[in-house]
Amino acid sequence: MSIRAAWVLLAVLHTIPVIVGLRFGMLPGLAVMVVFHLLLVAAIFLPVLLGIGCGVRRFHTDGREVCITIDDGPTADTAEVLSILDHANAKALFFLIGARVAEEPALCLRIVAGGHELGNHTMTHATALFWSLLPSAQMREISGATAEIERAAGVYPRLFRAPVGFRNLFNAGVLRALGMRYVGWSARGFDGIDTNVERVVSRIMRSLQPGAIILLHQGRPHHVAVLRRLLAELHSGGWSVVIPEVLRAHTLR
Ligand SMILES: [Zn+2]
Repeated sequence: MSIRAAWVLLAVLHTIPVIVGLRFGMLPGLAVMVVFHLLLVAAIFLPVLLGIGCGVRRFHTDGREVCITIDDGPTADTAEVLSILDHANAKALFFLIGARVAEEPALCLRIVAGGHELGNHTMTHATALFWSLLPSAQMREISGATAEIERAAGVYPRLFRAPVGFRNLFNAGVLRALGMRYVGWSARGFDGIDTNVERVVSRIMRSLQPGAIILLHQGRPHHVAVLRRLLAELHSGGWSVVIPEVLRAHTLR
C-alpha cells in the first residue's frame, strides 16, 4: 500500500462513521468508528490486514537451512556474539539501531567485516511510538539509522524491521519510497521477555521449518547463551545457518 493509498483509506475510515452518525444518529456513528479503529489496531498486530504486508518471513530452500537475525545492536556483547557465530561458521543478519551505531561505529564495521549482513532497526527504537508515527517521522527514524550505518560501515541497508515488529498503515509505503524491504520472522523464542535459555531455544526449535527466519536479540546476558545453545542445537539437528540470496541482495556496498 502506497503512502497516498494509506491516507485515502484513513480518510474513508473516518468519513464513513460521520456519514453513519448524520444519517442514523450519534451512537451508530460512534460504534462504526470504534470498529474501524479496532481494525486499525488489529492491523498493527496482524499486518496482513489492510494490505500492510508481512514482508519476508521465510525464504525458499530445498535443504535444512535457516537464517538467524539478531536485533538491537550494536551492544557491548557484539564481539562475543561475532566470536560465537565464527566458531559455528555461521553468518547472521543484524538489525542495528542507528543511535547505537553512532556510539559504536567500530562494532558496526566489525559486523560487516565478519561477512554478516546489516538491516535497519530505526534510529531510536521507539518501541511505544513507532507504530503510531506519520510517514515523515517514520522516514526520519529510518533514514537516520541508514545514514549512521552508511557512515560507520560504508554499506546501505535495504532491509528494515520495526521495533517489536509493530508497524502501521504507512510503513509499507515509506519503505517503498526508500527502496527498502520489510523482514519479519517465522521462528522466535521470546528472548526479549524470557531469560530462560532452555525455554527460549526449545520454542525456536519447535517452530523451525526449512527456510525459517529466526528472531534473536543481543544486549542482555542470556542472549549470548541463547545464541550459543541454539547454534549447538541447530548443528546437531543437521540445520545449516545461512543468509539467503533474497536477503543478501538488499545490502549495497
Ligand atoms: Zn528491537
